[in-house]
Amino acid sequence: MTLELHELASAVRARRDAHVRMLSALVAFPSLLGQESDAQRYMARTFTGMGLELDEFEIDDDALRQHPAYAPSLTSYAGRPNVVGIHRPRNGTTGRSLILNGHIDVVPVGDERLWSSPPFSPVVRDGRLYGRGAADMKAGIVAYTLAMRTLFELGFEPAAPVYLQSVIEEECTGNGALGCLMRGYRAEAAIIPEPSDTIRDAQLGVMWLTLHVQGVPAHAAVAPDGSSAIDFAGYLVGAMKGLAEQWNGSACRHARFADHAHPINFNLGELRGGEWPSSVPTQCEARIRVSFYPGTTPEQALAEIRATLADAHRQRPGGALFNWSIDNAGGFRAEGFVLDPGIPLIETLSLCHRDVHGVAPERFAFTGTTDARYFNLYGATPAVCYGPPGENIHGVDEYVAIDDMLNATTVIAWFIARWCGLNRR
Ligand SMILES: [Zn+2]
Repeated sequence: MTLELHELASAVRARRDAHVRMLSALVAFPSLLGQESDAQRYMARTFTGMGLELDEFEIDDDALRQHPAYAPSLTSYAGRPNVVGIHRPRNGTTGRSLILNGHIDVVPVGDERLWSSPPFSPVVRDGRLYGRGAADMKAGIVAYTLAMRTLFELGFEPAAPVYLQSVIEEECTGNGALGCLMRGYRAEAAIIPEPSDTIRDAQLGVMWLTLHVQGVPAHAAVAPDGSSAIDFAGYLVGAMKGLAEQWNGSACRHARFADHAHPINFNLGELRGGEWPSSVPTQCEARIRVSFYPGTTPEQALAEIRATLADAHRQRPGGALFNWSIDNAGGFRAEGFVLDPGIPLIETLSLCHRDVHGVAPERFAFTGTTDARYFNLYGATPAVCYGPPGENIHGVDEYVAIDDMLNATTVIAWFIARWCGLNRR
């Protein structure tokens, strides 16, 4: 290989407009849960246009259900394919294979009136591209796509298989990435360009839980005669948060998360209940995102949460009037992991980052989950998250700085060159 870094970096800079065009096109697709198909069609066209072999497939929910890492699905998989662009070297395989994975789905926009401009109308202001999904993680998909395309256009090809995966449902189940795993995709390393220019080599376990509570109705005029399901749900969620604080405490703290201020967060994200203002509510449903340390399985975390709730129920005066249950009937059921910092993927990626930025990257233990867990825990494919950092992900006025996206493209292309090796095309 005779590619010089300065040559690569200037070729990426020369493609600034191509980055902005592709990211704008992707952000304009409102690829919320269940609405990913148009964006995936765009990715399929893009991969085919680069001369990659295309593998487009829908997720088989019944087959996935057999896997221990399956998360209960939330909606049908019909018409919402995963898309994979496959590069197989024409001129000999001498290097190591690589998966580049990104999720096409985005999270809800929240109250749209809080945004400075509509979330699915991409806008460039002050060198930043704004829109839902701009940072999390469509800029990462642009970075790996244009990293490959730039190498091709410079007259090179990776000297090993490279798989470009655009998957659905990272934000709620992970079943898109699990679908790729079950289709047989493996490699000697994987990079997921989530919004972080630190190397994320550890993450928490995450689960979505639904708490169901039943109370006793009464006329509001004699409210003390009833037992409010909403009040009791609030009480139980409080008990759960007490458990979270216990897990945050030094006695329970996982060593890799020792420097975090508050790694374990139980978030009451959705609450529904009651009938109308003049009746004491008979039912309430709370949906909560919980997290737990690597080494704890989702089943163990749920058992501990159930025990805490049962305890709180017993201690509550008049508690016998209430019924409750808690389950993981839909959404995340994700285990955490910690990678060994000495593995070749992290060493090589660190060198590439240092070549481009002049300083070594930090390593970071993420207090959420990502699709990296499937590769590391079930796919024998070491995987880290590393990509263009962004701001306000899952918030309002999400953006990515265009320069950060270009830098990520350069680092990823440089990593491909070192990891896979390059052939002349
Ligand atoms: Zn993401």
